[in-house]
Amino acid sequence: MNETRGALRSYLKGREALGDPELFLSSGNRRETLEQVRNAGAGLAGGEGTGLDAAALARKGTREDILGIPDMESLRDVAEACTRCGLHSTRTRVVFSDGAPDAKVLCVGEAPGANEDRTGLPFVGRAGKLLDRLLLSVGFPRAEVFICNVLKCRPPGNRNPLPEEIHACSPFMLRQLELVKPTVIVAFGTFAAQTLLGCRDSLRHLRGRTHLYEGFPLVVTYHPAALLRNPGWTRPTWHDLQLARRIVDGDLGHTTSRVDAENETPGVEPDGGQTGVKDQLILGGRDG
Ligand code: URA
Repeated sequence: MNETRGALRSYLKGREALGDPELFLSSGNRRETLEQVRNAGAGLAGGEGTGLDAAALARKGTREDILGIPDMESLRDVAEACTRCGLHSTRTRVVFSDGAPDAKVLCVGEAPGANEDRTGLPFVGRAGKLLDRLLLSVGFPRAEVFICNVLKCRPPGNRNPLPEEIHACSPFMLRQLELVKPTVIVAFGTFAAQTLLGCRDSLRHLRGRTHLYEGFPLVVTYHPAALLRNPGWTRPTWHDLQLARRIVDGDLGHTTSRVDAENETPGVEPDGGQTGVKDQLILGGRDG
């Protein structure tokens, strides 16, 4: 019943934004009435015969409206029509997500770059290729994870996201997370980590242990673009991804545990990088 109530509340808010705050229910028994309410709520985000235009929600929807969108397809429709911040005027494509909507691992990056803006897919450039190999090295093929960014549109010239852009866009990521219900979230890079955790702590401080975000275990690691500049960070990244692997395998639960962050100096591998994923990645033909 809560779900129905939430969907109905969002639906009515959307109708109100369109200047039509009423919902007419034909008479019937309790079951039939609930069915009508559910159908109305399910039509929240637009689509054939659903009663609400995704573009209207994309233009005027509040954070609560976006969090009330009932399914991934509708969420995508609204995101793809979104004009809730200035980035819509410079984007080529909205970069909503890639991968499996029922994934156990949800990867979050910062924002689309030029390749992503052109293709509409996250992490498809050099950093993305490296991400694919890192994930695969711990047994997560790209097709089996869910990949998205905090921002769905590219900041011009890859500048840092503005607070108002984060504020406007982050409900999409939060709703994606709620719909995927992953076993673990992996935040790639300082921006994604700090945005999700609502802090300003350094990556060095945040990585190597399990956090919780909205009740989901969250692991923080380096951004693959940073690894292209500092290959020495590849090994610690692999350790972080192994932590994510253990969480998926149920070996670690939600406990907080440090892996190896204490001993690392940025850009310097603790053991000189003799073994491990760095070698595997180079053998695999890293294009960084
Ligand atoms: N960097 C990101 O954070 N996300 C992308 O999709 C591409 C590069």
